[in-house]
Amino acid sequence: MDIKKTLFTGLQKFARQHTLTTLGDRSSYLGASDIGYCPRKVILDRLHPPEHDLATLFRFQRGHMAEDIVANAMTAAGYDNFDRQVEAIASGNTPIRCHIDFVFNAPKLKAVLEVKSVSAIPDGPYSSWESQLYMQMGALAEQYPDHKIKGAVLAIDLGSGDIGFFNGYKPDEILYKGLKDRATSIWTDYQFMVLGHPKNPSTEPSLLCGYCNNLTTCPRFAAEEVPEMEDCVTELRSMQEQGKALNKQIEPIKAKLLSIVNQAGHSIKVNNTILSKAVRSRQHTDTARLTAFLADMGHTMQEFQESSSYSFLDINTSKTTIPKTKKAA
Ligand code: SF4
Repeated sequence: MDIKKTLFTGLQKFARQHTLTTLGDRSSYLGASDIGYCPRKVILDRLHPPEHDLATLFRFQRGHMAEDIVANAMTAAGYDNFDRQVEAIASGNTPIRCHIDFVFNAPKLKAVLEVKSVSAIPDGPYSSWESQLYMQMGALAEQYPDHKIKGAVLAIDLGSGDIGFFNGYKPDEILYKGLKDRATSIWTDYQFMVLGHPKNPSTEPSLLCGYCNNLTTCPRFAAEEVPEMEDCVTELRSMQEQGKALNKQIEPIKAKLLSIVNQAGHSIKVNNTILSKAVRSRQHTDTARLTAFLADMGHTMQEFQESSSYSFLDINTSKTTIPKTKKAA
């Protein structure tokens, strides 16, 4: 049995079944999370549903697991006043169905909890999370006009065990109307394209473009210049500068502390931190001797050398045009 292939096909099937049972036919409505994303991506993914790779399928499972963990913990802690996958339908002509992870019920109160599985807890909630939450709370408020509605996002990093809780949200009518208008524009473009009319839905480049299946055909990335990414790149460069500045401060402090440990001749404990002198040795190959040995055997070093490649982000601020080799890469 090819275990990787079995996992892949099994998870693909599971994902399709899970979507159908929890969300129904997604081509017939917009969900709350769609409205905060790039309109072009939302429309093209509906028209041509992408085939997810194994990494994405694992990510989906991680999301379901995070929700199950919260449900199990809440139940064990004695909270039985919540419903899962609650559907709230927004009013108007655009079909908008919000599927809410958790709604906690109390007399005259409904509290929305959106669970996000992440690989690192962000300092603050992403704007797409907030749009989703405002959409969910707005639709729920329409459905339960005599209830107070509240909302929160719980981000869970299953790898590190960290959580981020972003609480205190209330429905906002202006934001809700703006999101519904945005949904109408996305839905109208989608309907045009379903009928075969040419349309260029609006694009919103962001860091999430790296996960978009429609990047190679995206007009924003057809040209070399993508000015809309400026904020992301500026933020990265500023963090790199801060990192360099911090390293400059860190290294001398480490050298001084090592000198103290050296002088003391033993490890020292400072509150909960132990400072020790560590010595690591590295194996290295004596290439001169090896070359001579191989030559005696009638071989050369080159016969045993293999090249491997890896990719990384090269950030270059000294050039104004993209070198030819990088365009082709
Ligand atoms: S690459 Fe980015 S801007 Fe283009 S469609 Fe995808 S998400 Fe939108």
